[in-house]
Amino acid sequence: MLDISTLPQRAEPNDWSLVFAGRNAVTAMRGTPGSPWTVKEVGNLWGLEPSLALPVGHWQGRALWAFAIAENQVSQTEQIAVNLYSLLGRVEDNLFHAHGRAYQLLHWARTHRHCGQCGAATGMTEGGRAILCSECAFRVYPRVSPCVIVLVSKGEQLLLAAAAGFQKRFYSTLAGFMEPGESCEQAVAREVREEVGIEVGNIRYFSSQPWPFPSQVMLGFFADWVSGSLALNEEEIEDADWFDANALPPTPPMTSISGQLISHFINSR
Ligand SMILES: [Zn+2]
Repeated sequence: MLDISTLPQRAEPNDWSLVFAGRNAVTAMRGTPGSPWTVKEVGNLWGLEPSLALPVGHWQGRALWAFAIAENQVSQTEQIAVNLYSLLGRVEDNLFHAHGRAYQLLHWARTHRHCGQCGAATGMTEGGRAILCSECAFRVYPRVSPCVIVLVSKGEQLLLAAAAGFQKRFYSTLAGFMEPGESCEQAVAREVREEVGIEVGNIRYFSSQPWPFPSQVMLGFFADWVSGSLALNEEEIEDADWFDANALPPTPPMTSISGQLISHFINSR
């Protein structure tokens, strides 16, 4: 279980570390995929000082830190670098959450080295919870971008869509980023209207999932078809249709909230 209620303040040699090279989590080739390093191992392998670590939280009762290395620092013979997405469902959920949070924090730090307001150099403050401008004191917290994801149903049928641009074609629930000034329900209705041209109502919340690719949180909803026939936005949607529960196309795995929405709908019939 990842605990982020207090962040560790000083990295000790036996603390846990997660190491990323760009989008890839780096683990020892001989170890289990996704298993953490210690701070001491990171120092020995890559010469990284503990002061370069970002505090992630506590995992299995020990402090957990995140380190970034360059992609050419991954040893081709001793280490393996795997895309964060490929760890989803392959490592236990708590460990995946730890990787997701570590990756989001590293991404946040890497993209905020300079102040967005005045351009001066920044540094960490509030024990790693915020980035502070050295000149104008502008403060930036880790960004989380909310997305709505919705399973639309029409009687016993559910609406699934294949997104444009994906090589591996599978059918998923509709999803999109929320716009500033929108409620979740407004975002659900707008996304469905934009992508497939129908009106929905009876929008109800299901659950949420952190989605660290790189910094979303997916807010899951159910909604009922109200009016209109499918008219696809071809820039975003390659295909969409109403499906019977017993004749589904390939759908996302249960590790994603889309898979959970579909499964919940079918099991509740
Ligand atoms: Zn500034």
